[in-house]
Amino acid sequence: MHVILAQPRGFCAGVVRAIEIVERALQKYGPPVYVRHEIVHNRHVVESLKAKGAVFVENLTEVPPHAITIFSAHGVAQAIEEEATGRELPVIDATCPLVTKVHKQAIRYVGQGRTLVLIGHAGHPEVEGTMGRISGPVFLAQNEKDVDTLPIPTDASVAYVTQTTLSVDDTRSIIAALKARFSDIVGPETSDICYATQNRQTAVRELSKVADVILVVGAKNSSNSNRLREIGAEAGTPSYLIADGSELKPEWVQNARVVGITAGASAPEVLVEDVVAALRRLNSIEVSTLPGIEENIEFRLPAELRTPQKPVPAMAGSAS
Ligand code: SF4
Repeated sequence: MHVILAQPRGFCAGVVRAIEIVERALQKYGPPVYVRHEIVHNRHVVESLKAKGAVFVENLTEVPPHAITIFSAHGVAQAIEEEATGRELPVIDATCPLVTKVHKQAIRYVGQGRTLVLIGHAGHPEVEGTMGRISGPVFLAQNEKDVDTLPIPTDASVAYVTQTTLSVDDTRSIIAALKARFSDIVGPETSDICYATQNRQTAVRELSKVADVILVVGAKNSSNSNRLREIGAEAGTPSYLIADGSELKPEWVQNARVVGITAGASAPEVLVEDVVAALRRLNSIEVSTLPGIEENIEFRLPAELRTPQKPVPAMAGSAS
């Protein structure tokens, strides 16, 4: 059996930064540090940070007074930020800079007097965060049908922004429907979309051309991982979303000559290796990687965490 890995796959710069923020905060301030919502949507990542002393909460009411509080990569609503300020919680913001950019764009459009439409999935924490950045009404469009029923006059000044884990391809038809309905509408440049989402989707399309079956490594609640699975399936290749090697079903791959593997932006490479090991237990395999885009994007850490803490030197005569 030939196993082909998509390139790029797995961690994006926003996820790397968010995890590093929690690790450096633990190093600098000592455990526990409190993280609002899963820092990224991956149980393996969350469990390993929990083991180091991170405590994950859904509500700030669960955070004790003065405890270090980290906002997840998905971003938060203004009200959450204000709640933290009101409680004088020391906050470190791990919101991905690309999500922050969407927040700023949305605020700018509303400041210009435009009615805002957000293209995204209801209930996703990023969507809740972006909607919660706007003081006036924001309308959510999850698909083209939603555009027809938006309660906005067709001659209104409108603007749209999109959830970062949707690619240009995902939003194209919804944007076309918006432009058909509203004549005065503006939106961000396509270059503003998340590079990682687009690159991983392009890579899974390439993978679907050569693979008989595709395994997407990622969490069930990871929006971008689900989308990778859908794209593989839409291209006609049976595609399965699995958290790790333990979820691999032998019948999925028993007739496959080529098994393709990719991973969502919040899935660590160790889980891809785990799936490869599970395949190896079933069959003798040969592993290769598809050529693809090399990513070299890095996001800066918040200023207070830029210098890694050096271990405190032991004092002379102290017990070691
Ligand atoms: S997928 Fe894109 S927007 Fe989301 S955390 Fe990664 S880089 Fe940021």
